[in-house]
Amino acid sequence: MKAAVVKALGEPLVIEERPDPVPGPGQVRVRVEASGLCHTDIHAAHGDWPVQPAPPFVPGHEGVGIVEELGDGVAHLSVGQRVAVPWLGWACGHCEHCLTGWETLCEKQVNTGYGVDGGYAEKMLAHADFAQPVPDGIDPREAAPLTCAGVTTYKALKVAGVGPADLVAISGIGGLGHLAVQYGKIACATVAAIDISDEKLQLAADLGADILIDARKEDPAAVLQSHGGAHAALALAVNEETFATVFAGLRRGGKLVMVALPADGIIQIPVFSTVLGGTSVIGSIVGTRQDLAEVFQLHAAGRTRVIYETRPLTSVNESIDEVLKGTVKARIVFEM
Ligand SMILES: [Zn+2]
Ligand SMILES: [Zn+2]
Repeated sequence: MKAAVVKALGEPLVIEERPDPVPGPGQVRVRVEASGLCHTDIHAAHGDWPVQPAPPFVPGHEGVGIVEELGDGVAHLSVGQRVAVPWLGWACGHCEHCLTGWETLCEKQVNTGYGVDGGYAEKMLAHADFAQPVPDGIDPREAAPLTCAGVTTYKALKVAGVGPADLVAISGIGGLGHLAVQYGKIACATVAAIDISDEKLQLAADLGADILIDARKEDPAAVLQSHGGAHAALALAVNEETFATVFAGLRRGGKLVMVALPADGIIQIPVFSTVLGGTSVIGSIVGTRQDLAEVFQLHAAGRTRVIYETRPLTSVNESIDEVLKGTVKARIVFEM
């Protein structure tokens, strides 16, 4: 089987022929149909973050495909079933976080495409308990971006507690942002979309955004404040300056939810207005299995649209360049 492999951090990926992986106890082998390109895969391949993956490894945590072999002890999945293999590849199930509904914070978690080989391959292994069944009728190319971009923004809105009378700012309309806009509308909130691209702002408008803010021409904080300030802001752009900008656009009691992960990102927050304003700053990382099940359920019900462009896996390096240049409308999905 073919896989796109990071041989050395910061180097182009290499397409390699490998033997089919054999599922161990509790695992399944998945024949990958589609696999999304998330910015995290680029951070992984470049070794941008404090905890670096160890080459050689296969990135990708939006792999969707068909179960083709069951390891010992797997009873709840069957051969032929479609599953998604998300970032949360495994968690311990016994720690404080796992037991309180926060498996995404498990300190023993194993991350797909980072700690173990991921979805940039024709075949991959998954822990059966963390392989998420994809409901019938969902196109695997649409399921792929939902597996990270979808669940991550869905969860971020959940932790922000966004309600129907709220103004929510979505900073960065890309793979994540275009789904965040839709989850904001599903929550019946007023959605302000912020970007620096006419095309992406138009996409946000098409998906239901109520207020469009072009950060090249106007100060997002000032526009948000002219609407009374945002109840919540999701920082989705990989640019830490935008975090501070939307923070300044919050109303009293507002919540900044940090989602994007700029390498070495640090933001300065004014203590005085944070204290007096009762402002919250929250980090939000992907979502649980239940969150992902809800994301698929919403999509199966026709309530979300996934905007994507397909590429062959052999164009992985060119595709990464496209994402870094910001020329991709929403999400690139590799078709196997
Ligand atoms: Zn991701
Ligand atoms: Zn745990």
